[in-house]
Amino acid sequence: MNVHNFNAGPSVLPESAIKETIKAIENFANTGMSILSVSHRSKEFIAVSDMAESLFKELLDIPDGYKVVFLGGGASTQFMMIPYNYLNKKAAYLNTGTWANKALKEAKFFGEVVEVASSKDKNYNYIPKGYTVPSDADYFHITTNNTIFGTEIKHDMDCKVPLIADMSSDIFSRPVDVSKYDLIYGGAQKNFAPAGVTFAIVKISSLGKVSRAIPTMIDYKTHIENDSMFNTPPVLPIFTGMETLKWLKNLGGVKEMNRINVEKANILYNEIERNKLFIPTVENHEDRSIMNICFVMNENYKELEKDFSDFATKKGMIGIKGHRSVGGFRASTYNALPKESVQALVDTMKEFESKK
Ligand SMILES: *Cc1c(COP(=O)(O)O)cnc(C)c1O
Repeated sequence: MNVHNFNAGPSVLPESAIKETIKAIENFANTGMSILSVSHRSKEFIAVSDMAESLFKELLDIPDGYKVVFLGGGASTQFMMIPYNYLNKKAAYLNTGTWANKALKEAKFFGEVVEVASSKDKNYNYIPKGYTVPSDADYFHITTNNTIFGTEIKHDMDCKVPLIADMSSDIFSRPVDVSKYDLIYGGAQKNFAPAGVTFAIVKISSLGKVSRAIPTMIDYKTHIENDSMFNTPPVLPIFTGMETLKWLKNLGGVKEMNRINVEKANILYNEIERNKLFIPTVENHEDRSIMNICFVMNENYKELEKDFSDFATKKGMIGIKGHRSVGGFRASTYNALPKESVQALVDTMKEFESKK
């Protein structure tokens, strides 16, 4: 049976990236050694790390003055590294869900935190609008895609203070105007690579503005100055990430990827709206994520939730159970998820409806 991997993270990766990783585990770059056993300072691995960075720059059209670094610790460590490096007195945060909250909580260790707006009143099923960011904030932090609640900020906003974005779950899903951000970061395990590597795209001139001393490993400058080789980087995830970016480039880059992602998301949202058994949790089309599509049973069919879940499992649908804070279902339609998988889920929903 074909399986269709809708996992929210770690999630589906391109087949070519996995195949190349298998080869590199056996014999990396004709060294006769596994990539698991080569030095991160070998010329062969430095070539991989450099290539991963240059593909980042090329695909996202990153302007001069920015550096891409590969770190450990996940996006969750960035929640602390950001205020450590950027928060002098006051920071502003947009509260759009679980991850945004976790980021905000860490900033409180370092100074005053202003929650400029929140969508908590409706269980985070929309993106707040019409708020004001304090002009004396050291930075404004947003979470562009809310993986758990299925909302997304799909444009690059103008902001009078430095803008910092968690793009863990939508990086490379659309073109981004990097020049609008001082820092973009994320864990790898959604659209980039296996778990274990964290990326940060840092505007170099944005650093060095806080008065506190910063421990070496927490200081972005350390990793910038050492080309992500101050300590041993996550070698294997960086390799797979590089292969993922090669796949993306061959496919036509982020603009083409976005076209495909929008098409996939529309196929699924349309079916959720058409099918009498289901309703989407995010009403406003503009706020709907194209990466994590959340839906629940229509009120009159609540008791069919488990039946549908079992039916979908039998049809090969993996990972569509909704997060416990939303319930229902969540289909993650990341870059590497084929359109055929979305079609298979839609067919499953139709078939289930026809039996009821
Ligand atoms: C998955 C996720 C995180 C957490 O990433 P880790 O690498 O596990 O720390 C943070 N933010 C968002 C938006 C996520 O989707």
